[in-house]
Amino acid sequence: MVKFYLLIGPSGVGKSKLQEKLVSDLEHIVRSISATTRPPREEEHDGTDYFFYNQKVFFDMVGSDEFLEFKEYAGEHYGTPKKFIEDTLNGGSDVVGVIEVKGAQTIIKQFEKEKRRECVVSIFVYPEHFQDLVTHLKQRDTKSGYSRKRLKDMKRRIMKRMTIAVEEIEHLNDFDYRICMRHNKFDETYNQLRSIVIIERARDTVDESYASRFVKDYTAFCKSYRSRKA
Ligand code: 5GP
Repeated sequence: MVKFYLLIGPSGVGKSKLQEKLVSDLEHIVRSISATTRPPREEEHDGTDYFFYNQKVFFDMVGSDEFLEFKEYAGEHYGTPKKFIEDTLNGGSDVVGVIEVKGAQTIIKQFEKEKRRECVVSIFVYPEHFQDLVTHLKQRDTKSGYSRKRLKDMKRRIMKRMTIAVEEIEHLNDFDYRICMRHNKFDETYNQLRSIVIIERARDTVDESYASRFVKDYTAFCKSYRSRKA
């Protein structure tokens, strides 16, 4: 059964890095690229990290029901493209998306309504230490190509994201799995995520034709075995 993996957790915890590694490491799992009204950071590219749209385009897409869910986060909007997710799942590949808590809750509810809750696997990633998050957000913000004025706003932006992080951490236990982003031990954390995907794949039921092929092989084996001289 194909699955939609949701990587949930506070901004700056390292969800995108985990997502990137997962799709480059495992076969049959594709990255979901969200749409956002947020301006790109210096190192980000349109169509690779996000689809960067202005408010008008984004809300036209909302109007034409192109998102599985969309939410406001720290003054900007983010949405999960519906067609891409459905086409990928229908095509037989898993998808992994990065998402904040409310968006994840919406997707889970929607899949529940459509009686396919088992197709969503929600994984909350939380930082080992509070300070790890602050440090990462600061580094990312300083690296970004924002103007001087915007850099001045850094404190305010980080405070906003940390306030949301506090609300999000309250939902830590609402999801299927929890993994801790260990301080300076990304590979250890990644291996936990990888194990979850492997385990989820092992939960899949095996095609019924496998059992009938097994019986057929058994019948053929009995025939030749009995006819063999002792
Ligand atoms: P950032 O601006 O740091 O890239 O993202 C801000 C937050 O939005 C992060 O928690 C990220 O996981 C979340 N996010 C990214 N894409 C989506 C999406 O399609 N839908 C929702 N609801 N949140 C998203």
